Amino acid sequence: MTQKLIEGFRAFKKETYENGSGLMPRLIKDGQSPDYFIISCIDSRSNPGTIFRPDPGTFFAHKAMGAIVRPYKKGTALAAALQFALIHNKVRELIILGHTGCGAIKALVDRINDDEISSFIDVAQQGLQHAQMRCANVCTHDELVRYTEEEIVLESARNLKSYPSVAKALEAGQVTIRPWIFDMESGELLEYCEDQKKFCPITDH
Ligand SMILES: [Zn+2]
Repeated sequence: MTQKLIEGFRAFKKETYENGSGLMPRLIKDGQSPDYFIISCIDSRSNPGTIFRPDPGTFFAHKAMGAIVRPYKKGTALAAALQFALIHNKVRELIILGHTGCGAIKALVDRINDDEISSFIDVAQQGLQHAQMRCANVCTHDELVRYTEEEIVLESARNLKSYPSVAKALEAGQVTIRPWIFDMESGELLEYCEDQKKFCPITDH
C-alpha cells in the first residue's frame, strides 16, 4: 500500500541528495530560512507541496480543513507555528490558500451531520453569513459554496491579525498576508485584489 510513497521518496532522495545538487546537505548544514508560510486545506489536490513544485526549504506549511484560521487562542498548533515562523524565523509572506470544490466549505454550507467536523468548521460561520449576504437569496447552491470559499479565505486573513506574532510582524512591516484561492477547475491561482474587491488570476499580474 505504501509503495507509491516509497517510490516518490526514492526520486526525491536521488534529486536532492545524490545528483550533486547538494540542496539537502546544504540545508542541513546552514539550517532553513523559508520566506513563506502557507496555510492550506487538507485536500489532497491542492497540496502546496505539489502545486508550487517547491524545493526543500521553500516554505513552512500548516494544514487545516478548509484552510480555516480561527481567531487567536493561546496554545494552538497554529499559534505556536506562527510564533516560530515569524518571530524565530523571519518569514515574509503569509499565504492562506483556499481552493474551489472544497469539501470542508461545502460541509459548512450544507450543515454536515458530524459533530467532530462541525465543531471545527463552524468557527467560519461568519464567512458563510457574508456569502449569504452577497447572494441575497438569488444564488445557486454552487454559487453560494463558491462565495463561501472566498469569504472564508478573507475571514481567515482577518483572523490571522489577532495572533500576537502576526500583529507584531505586521507592525514591523516584516510580513504580507495574502489570501489566495486555487481554482481547481480552471487551473488558475487567484489572489484577492483590494482595488477590484474580488479574486483575480495571479498569472494576469
Ligand atoms: Zn478543502
